[in-house]
Amino acid sequence: MTTGRKRKVVLVVVAHGDDMEFLAGGTVARFVDEKGYDVYEYILTDNSKGSYRLGPAELAGASAREAEEAGRVLGLRAVRFEGYADGELNAEPVNAIRGKIMAVIREVKADIVMSWDPFAPYEGHPDHRVVAMASLEAASFSGNPRFHPEHAHPPHPVTEAYWFAKSPTNARCFVDISSTIDKKLEALLKHDTQMALTVDGILQEARALGVSVPGLEQAAEAGAHGALMDAGVRAFCARTGAQAGLPVAEQFRYERLGMLDTVLGAPAIEPDF
Ligand SMILES: [Zn+2]
Repeated sequence: MTTGRKRKVVLVVVAHGDDMEFLAGGTVARFVDEKGYDVYEYILTDNSKGSYRLGPAELAGASAREAEEAGRVLGLRAVRFEGYADGELNAEPVNAIRGKIMAVIREVKADIVMSWDPFAPYEGHPDHRVVAMASLEAASFSGNPRFHPEHAHPPHPVTEAYWFAKSPTNARCFVDISSTIDKKLEALLKHDTQMALTVDGILQEARALGVSVPGLEQAAEAGAHGALMDAGVRAFCARTGAQAGLPVAEQFRYERLGMLDTVLGAPAIEPDF
């Protein structure tokens, strides 16, 4: 049974300013440009540990501005910041975090939630693990009026989820981003502080191992981290796409939330991709 296409609302819930652009920027651009969906981003931490160069306060301000600029490139309806301390999300009660996410789901009436995968193995970042599980719990119960009856907006069910696939996993939803990879990179490179962090981290690792990467040291010293990241992310998207016979792709674990498919014995809706 398939119903007509509707204009959906997408809520991307992430820990850090650049998570969405790295893992899902091309797909978000397709939601906005091709399908006309409203996409919102909800960033839970202040990103204050995301630099070897800038202090926490200066970095948090810069990071928020970068996220706003990237959001404009992608055509987001809004970017919201929760401001939890970077790297410390697991010091917060998960029920409190999921309650905040649930409130935003109900406010924007999200049909689709995108986030880190709550069941992805080998995820080392505590913030990614926490935002993932809190997002799953919020999306699973946002339609239940007994959860947070004090919220300003009424219960609203989330029906689909796209969970980011960073490492090799059994995530089999590959989205062709040939039409939007340039926009993905434009948005990602707005996160200049985070591109510098990524290159600084790789450089530190290479030095620790005594491995010489051609051009890396010079590029880092010359502030050419944007060009390095552009090339690296394009290559990563090409490797992802190669798994599915696509030129460039982003990868997700797609999940239909709820029980209707089980009752029907068939998918109630066609996925967008
Ligand atoms: Zn992150």
